[in-house]
Amino acid sequence: MKYFLFAITFLFIANRGVIYAFVEGLFNKKVKRRTHDITDKRILTLIQKKTGLTLSKILLFDTDKVWGMMAGFPPKPYMIITTDALKRFDKDEMEWIYLHEAGHYVLWHNLKMALLQIFFLIPSFVILSRVSNFSSGLFFAILLSISFSVVYFQLARLFEYEASNFALKRISNPEGIITLAEKAKKWWRQRGVAEKSLFHKLFNTWIYDIYVNLAKNAQEEIHRRSGKSSTTSAGIL
Ligand SMILES: [Zn+2]
Repeated sequence: MKYFLFAITFLFIANRGVIYAFVEGLFNKKVKRRTHDITDKRILTLIQKKTGLTLSKILLFDTDKVWGMMAGFPPKPYMIITTDALKRFDKDEMEWIYLHEAGHYVLWHNLKMALLQIFFLIPSFVILSRVSNFSSGLFFAILLSISFSVVYFQLARLFEYEASNFALKRISNPEGIITLAEKAKKWWRQRGVAEKSLFHKLFNTWIYDIYVNLAKNAQEEIHRRSGKSSTTSAGIL
């Protein structure tokens, strides 16, 4: 019972974003009916050229939340984008989202995150096996699932930074990242997400700070690229 309670609680906290999205897709009839795919060849070719990922379509998920998701393992990739992301972001900003999601796939992040979650189950089961009392077992199961979730989110965030960096190096116009980060920050503030709250930082992969860092890194990339092009032109001269 304590092992089951730990596994369920831990896996639920760690994957709750995906679970909510799945439940919404399953029960919201409006979502099902209006969902259609992105089949724009220019977008799919761009993703293919820049990341090597071949997609026949991008699934569109009709919700008023902004997110993108990369589902599936090689060789079956599924990229999912929400309609609200399409509504809010321009061409350059969307390119970053596509490249970021493709990065998750190319860098095997889904598999790594699944392995990471399994990895956390092992020490927890060992610790729980040493607790013989039934109610203490349940108490420790909850305590461990909460503590390990916090550690998990901090590690999972590294994948977000890695995918963002992957996209940053390949994006046509890094300016798009800066404007996207600005929009996202504003949107978060409007929704009243306590972006600076410790609780939010502990139990979420995507935090407000990521956007701050995104804009900073994009600025550096613009600097780097302009430096590069001026050296090249100086070389030609
Ligand atoms: Zn991501």
